[in-house]
Amino acid sequence: MRTARVWPVLLGVEHTVIEKVELRQENGEEVLVASVRPTRSRRSRCSRCGRRARGYDRGEGRRRWRALDLGSTRTYLQADSPRVSCPVHGVVVAAVPWARAGARHTHAFEDTCAWLAANAALSTVAELLRCTWRTVSAIVVRVVADRAGETDRLAGLTRIGIDEISYRKGHRYLLAVVDHDTGRLVWAAPGRDQATLRAFFDALGPERAALLTHVSADGAQWIHDVVAERAPQAVLCIDAFHVVAWATKAVDEVRRNLVGDLRRAGGKDAAAELKGTRWALLKNPGDLTGEQRTTLAWIATTNRGLYRAYLLKEQLREAFRVKGRRGRLLLAGWLAWARRSRLPAFVKLAKTIARYLPPIHNTFDHGLSNARSEATNTHLRLLTRRAYGYHSPDALIAMAMLTRGGLCPELPGRTA
Ligand SMILES: [Zn+2]
Repeated sequence: MRTARVWPVLLGVEHTVIEKVELRQENGEEVLVASVRPTRSRRSRCSRCGRRARGYDRGEGRRRWRALDLGSTRTYLQADSPRVSCPVHGVVVAAVPWARAGARHTHAFEDTCAWLAANAALSTVAELLRCTWRTVSAIVVRVVADRAGETDRLAGLTRIGIDEISYRKGHRYLLAVVDHDTGRLVWAAPGRDQATLRAFFDALGPERAALLTHVSADGAQWIHDVVAERAPQAVLCIDAFHVVAWATKAVDEVRRNLVGDLRRAGGKDAAAELKGTRWALLKNPGDLTGEQRTTLAWIATTNRGLYRAYLLKEQLREAFRVKGRRGRLLLAGWLAWARRSRLPAFVKLAKTIARYLPPIHNTFDHGLSNARSEATNTHLRLLTRRAYGYHSPDALIAMAMLTRGGLCPELPGRTA
């Protein structure tokens, strides 16, 4: 390899002339600074459209971009940052081959950062890359916007799930659309109303909306209304995990009421004991630990009402598991049982479920994958709870698109 190729390869840049590389002492730290310029063919191009444009002025003058550390040494590219006058975009900063427009970091740095953000704890990413969480978040937004422009994620949709995800402690909502066939998040926007959902159908367009065969949601009427208006041919289903979540909530309500009753009756120890049963009751039986199974057996002998609530939840889950005709039969039996269960939470749930019977039967008959939409829902909820918080819904959506929308870049230098 010619020596002249060594620096561009190490710095992970293309179409770039390396003028000089030097170690400098800055803020008590030794840093590597590479003075660079675009090769002749890449000079004087618009950073919006990439077309050749006339030079305008020196712009910001000399500036720096963070590159990936070389070894353990912090590394920068340094170059002029002139502005050009594009016939279409006006006066804009000239494009540079080593970084995205407006970025303060190189392509290789940003792609590495986005990949890490999708695969590691954010505190780890920030520490490793020596930047703030805000910088990581801004990089993710830019990488996702860049990559989203390259593909049409709404192409070929036939079966979709529409989900509302709460964030900021339930004060704000995102509307997320998932492709049931790939499990990918294909669209998301802040809001939980008809206007937000109509914006999705506007982006999709009437021709592609006409190709939708199935739409699943959480049972919200406003979602059903907009789907009926924009994709009337689509079969409406309810994602099983939403219905199971309703039952889980009902079990918890029964348990909480019992704890309250016991406390008021002076049974402090019994109340405390019951309080500790929460997870045993709410977990799926397959995920129970040995201790939790013992807890359930204890509830079965000491507290019939609570155990009945647990069994009701499990039968409902089973109905969604077996689906089809057997699912319908199980659900019919479940409704009768819930109505006479003498558990107010389940009597109420039976009413709700009776109201949603048509979309629930559709779910039983059409076999949409619950696992994928549930996994995406769980993942989005996890994202919203990340301790760092998101300064804007755009940052949250970008993160969701990065991890669930197939927009995560490959690590630089790894593509075959
Ligand atoms: Zn332009």
